[in-house]
Amino acid sequence: MADLTQLSAAEMRRRLDAGEVTAEELLEAHLERIRELDPILQAFVTVDEAGAREGAKRAQERIEAGEACPLTGIPVALKDNLATKGIRTTCSSKILENWVPPYSATVVQRLEMQDAVLVGKTNLDEFAMGTSTEFSAFFPTRNPWDTERVPGGSSGGSAAAVAAALVPLALGSDTGGSIRQPAALCGIVGFKPTYGRVSRYGLVAFSSSLDQIGPFARTVEDATLLFEAIFGHDPKDATTVEEPYDPARARGVDIQGLRIGCPAEMFSDQVDEVVRDTVLAARAKLEAAGAIVEDFSAPIIEHGVSTYYIIAPAEASSNLARYDGVRYGLRVPADSPNEMMKQTRAQGFGKEVKERILIGTYVLSSGYYDAFYATAHRARTLMRQELRKAFEKYDLILSPTSPTVAFRLGEKSSDPIALKLADFCTIPANVANFPAISLNCGFADGLPVGLQLMADSYRDDLLLGAARTVESILAIEPKAAPIAAHG
Ligand code: GLN
Repeated sequence: MADLTQLSAAEMRRRLDAGEVTAEELLEAHLERIRELDPILQAFVTVDEAGAREGAKRAQERIEAGEACPLTGIPVALKDNLATKGIRTTCSSKILENWVPPYSATVVQRLEMQDAVLVGKTNLDEFAMGTSTEFSAFFPTRNPWDTERVPGGSSGGSAAAVAAALVPLALGSDTGGSIRQPAALCGIVGFKPTYGRVSRYGLVAFSSSLDQIGPFARTVEDATLLFEAIFGHDPKDATTVEEPYDPARARGVDIQGLRIGCPAEMFSDQVDEVVRDTVLAARAKLEAAGAIVEDFSAPIIEHGVSTYYIIAPAEASSNLARYDGVRYGLRVPADSPNEMMKQTRAQGFGKEVKERILIGTYVLSSGYYDAFYATAHRARTLMRQELRKAFEKYDLILSPTSPTVAFRLGEKSSDPIALKLADFCTIPANVANFPAISLNCGFADGLPVGLQLMADSYRDDLLLGAARTVESILAIEPKAAPIAAHG
């Protein structure tokens, strides 16, 4: 039965509807694989076997009643910063280790409305701050392609779970690349929608003007199915929008005449040669298939990382003020309220989170606000203006997703600058607010290489459709991740 886990979600749908498999059988196959492989990969913080079994039973009844929705009966994992009523939501932080939310995130409710089968909560860098999932307060997650390497981050648990076929689909969140970069390092598809497409209600806030929820899947088609189940206006999140979205376009666009721009800044020597060569080979295939591909330059891209590392910590320092030992989670008892808060925050937050709170507080403090925070906002505006100009000429911007393939556990965790520079291709989509997707475009030394496509705001349908076309042109043999150490 284990081979059921290797199917795409779309194929699972077909078999469920045809009565060739039941939702319960599908779930049990995945639970078995989780029991076998998750002790090695450590993708999950919580597996909710009992809840998932009830979910599968409900789904099966619905399928038999002929009322199935696209995700009815399909196993889905959730990044553990998405609130789930009655199931602990830790953000992989000691401060929320035992926090059980009294409500579910809108995206979770939308999956429940379809009777998708929610299998569990996946590991992340604490509060989604990181690039390797090594900053989880609990344990690092391992890359299924080489278990001595990181899966990327911060949504590394979701990416590893999908790549290892522990689930066909998972949700993550992306503030500066946390869906796309782990998707790239794990050889799967990760999509960050335009800000405002997906409700953030119930997503534990990191940087509210940048955070966006999106899907992981092994194919673009599957990622599209999951996105279509969660997006749309939500009265509980005033930043959500009701912009047009054409599902037919999201199912494929013609490569002939598609205009693609490649920013020189994202192909510079900051990108490892093997990654660049693999992405350039993919680019050549698209050109051969009829795309019009051109180089261009947008120097503002060079300022993306510094802009992000002012705005994101500033917003985080404000968002994380609520963990004070009074309202949520951990409380370390002490003689006075002040001392209690101090001890709670000192013991509850990890080093990376504390560093961000300090940076954020600093850039917002009087005397530094204009020099840092206000300047970063001007850079943000310029970034949007410059890249929008590019979208007057191009339908898509193509680049590597990550400048490197998956690195070894411990290799960069003590080098905060190296980790932060790894985000330079993904950050512009968050800072300037464009949808962006990463898909596998080949392998270097047996490790996956991700290609990023970015489109103009709200052209999520065009982006998904183009990614689907690109996926079929590249025609990468779908290989299962081996789940072994390379030695
Ligand atoms: N790696 C980036 C950071 O550490 C992005 C994280 C994210 O997108 N959540 O902040």
